[in-house]
Amino acid sequence: MPLSPAETIAQLQSLLGADQVIASPERMGSFLHEPRKRFHTPATAVALPGSVEQVQALARWANEHGVGIIPQGGNTGLVGAQVPLRGDEVIVSLARLDRVRTIDAGAGTMVAEAGVVLENAHRAAEAKGAMFPLWLASQGSARIGGVLSSNAGGVNVLAYGNARELCMGVEAVLADGRLYQGLNGLKKDNTGYDLKDLLVGAEGTLGIITAATLKIFPQPEEYETALVNIASPDAAFTLFQLMRDRAGAQLNAFELIPLIGLQIQLRHGMLDRDPTAGSSPWYALIEVLRPKGGRPGLLQEALEAAFSQGLVDNAVVAESLEDRTRMWAFREQMSECQSREGASIKHDVSVPLAAVPRLIEEGSAAAAQVVPGIRPVPFGHMGDGNIHFNFSPPPGADNGQFMAGAEPVHAAIYEIVLKLGGSVSAEHGIGQLKVDLLRQVKDPVALQMMRAIKDALDPKGILNPGKMLG
Ligand SMILES: Cc1cc2nc3c(=O)[nH]c(=O)nc-3n(C[C@H](O)[C@H](O)[C@H](O)COP(=O)(O)OP(=O)(O)OC[C@H]3O[C@@H](n4cnc5c(N)ncnc54)[C@H](O)[C@@H]3O)c2cc1C
Repeated sequence: MPLSPAETIAQLQSLLGADQVIASPERMGSFLHEPRKRFHTPATAVALPGSVEQVQALARWANEHGVGIIPQGGNTGLVGAQVPLRGDEVIVSLARLDRVRTIDAGAGTMVAEAGVVLENAHRAAEAKGAMFPLWLASQGSARIGGVLSSNAGGVNVLAYGNARELCMGVEAVLADGRLYQGLNGLKKDNTGYDLKDLLVGAEGTLGIITAATLKIFPQPEEYETALVNIASPDAAFTLFQLMRDRAGAQLNAFELIPLIGLQIQLRHGMLDRDPTAGSSPWYALIEVLRPKGGRPGLLQEALEAAFSQGLVDNAVVAESLEDRTRMWAFREQMSECQSREGASIKHDVSVPLAAVPRLIEEGSAAAAQVVPGIRPVPFGHMGDGNIHFNFSPPPGADNGQFMAGAEPVHAAIYEIVLKLGGSVSAEHGIGQLKVDLLRQVKDPVALQMMRAIKDALDPKGILNPGKMLG
């Protein structure tokens, strides 16, 4: 017999203490409403365990009673993975597990609990003269467990890799309450399957991460940052190759932004002044890091080479921290600025690097066939082949009608992405948003392997039910 909501709440209260269980719909609001306000399903309760032992007790109890539990970090995920799907689940917030357990700049490691806010992980590393290089616009809210479980990317993937590459080990509670202790932090450990890599990016469907060993790095001496006017995505790709040849692993970021992004931000007063060197069809935000003792001027030299090849006709190089901050604000506000302009049809996709220009060209043309006048706003991590291929409505169009016609736009974009050998989810994951899409496009053998792993580790299907595999 399934537990009634009242029984579930009472039993949770006796497990964790009454004040660590939230059951009133008003107080649950901030755990239920995700950033894009797409999902509106209630939960039975929110549980706030305060220790690894309490997380274990909770999982054991949920497994015994067949209660669905949803691990949650900062609730900033963009595919509905961290919020309910059925309405009878319990959200397990890891917010109270927020300790940095150890930090060793010499060894280059930090052991942080799942509830540590990403920005606090940055601060902890900085206090030791080091840095943790995972930067996202949501870093003030996103937490380590969520960042790892969604294998977040962000703007420094080029130089440092995504969350998976920044993680050396995890500690996680399994569905039946057992604790997997994998925090060893070894650079080399060939003793079987890589269980860490299985749990990272699993969106809470295989275990609840309680802590992780993260890589930290020496702080660079300086960042050299520029906002470059560029004629086309083709030219941007050639410029990217030039930058990579000259800067190698010091190339920290290469982000592409279309003119419409600047126009929207200026129109809505989101920038105190234009950070670019003037109107251009496209901009590339390029950043090179200089290690301590490294030679300055690498970015300037590379840009001069690009000028002499006729690749670039204008650029602004940041001369102060204020300039750099303004340039990054322009990039980071790209997502938000579209909501000021009305509705937005969004795709988080990746293709092989050289195919990015084709993706943008063919995708824009295909969407215009479906919705004449649609305004493409493709931007993002060009250096990772990851474009946020978004579309704003034709001027004056009704937002509701525009969104009602989103499906054929999605189909057109995903068809091109797959034709180019790309992925329909580059960094945001599957969650509940893309469950059907995953079934359609993923290799059937890969899906069978994923299902077998899920069934082996969570035979009763209590961990984040219905997400990713459906
Ligand atoms: C403004 C904004 C900018 C963003 N920019 C980027 C970006 O540049 N790159 C990028 O990759 N993403 C980006 N994101 C989305 C990104 O996935 C999240 O910001 C972040 O990685 C999720 O962290 P979170 O703590 O909020 O996780 P949540 O949203 O709470 O959860 C995300 C997933 O992780 C699971 N989970 C959470 N904690 C645990 C745990 N302890 N154990 C097991 N599973 C857990 C949840 O069940 C869910 O499946 C952005 C989001 C916003 C709102």
